[in-house]
Amino acid sequence: MNRTPLLAGNWKMHGTRVDASTLARGLVAKVGAVTGREVLVAPPFTALDVVADAIAGSRILLAAQNVHWESTGAFTGELSVAMLKEARCTHVIIGHSERRQYFGETDETVRKRTAAALAGGLTPIVCVGETLEQREANKTVAVVTTQVNGALAGLGDASIERLVVAYEPVWAIGTGRTATPAQAQEVHALIRDRLRALASGGVAEKVRILYGGSVKPDNIDTLMAQPDIDGALVGGASLDVDGFARIVNYEVPKQ
Ligand code: PEP
Repeated sequence: MNRTPLLAGNWKMHGTRVDASTLARGLVAKVGAVTGREVLVAPPFTALDVVADAIAGSRILLAAQNVHWESTGAFTGELSVAMLKEARCTHVIIGHSERRQYFGETDETVRKRTAAALAGGLTPIVCVGETLEQREANKTVAVVTTQVNGALAGLGDASIERLVVAYEPVWAIGTGRTATPAQAQEVHALIRDRLRALASGGVAEKVRILYGGSVKPDNIDTLMAQPDIDGALVGGASLDVDGFARIVNYEVPKQ
């Protein structure tokens, strides 16, 4: 199955509007016309509009880093699907481990955010992944299975087909410790199997599963050589124009 690779940069809580605009313009110059793969950036909320202006007319896509499930109301600090679409987002990251770890995100809130994004026409990038403690206790399969089941509960084939899953082992995020391609592939294959169980037909084969966790210019090529790794969600290395451009321009090593 040919899945269009997706290289996504999660800028987290980094950068002023000026920084974000400069970074976005740098990326447009380097990878704004790239074909055969999708490129996406997720700036902080405050910079969405300047980044949308900077990438307009290029092939770079825009994502937010979170979304609320209600359409309006007394939810201080949250943003709705309609607000993100107005800010020109097409995608949204949901359930990032930092939100699970520091802001009380649960499988249930991830499910609600994912369902709302899909219903409103945003593409969710749903993050899952185990902690080091869970991996060392041989709980990776159980944890990731529960997270995928939880996030996708109640979704039909047409919805599952439209979403993106990101496998991000918590122990690899921002630590410089990347999962080996084989370790990542093992969990990606598990996620694909889960998707086969949750959706029918060939839907699971169409869903892109990104790897995230200390992806860098020097490890992207071998990661992308794995059959179930369909792209990357990149944190730290996405803040550098040349480094992220190199990641976007990955080349799978010849056998
Ligand atoms: C992330 O935050 O999604 C991430 C993978 O971060 P880093 O690339 O810095 O490990």
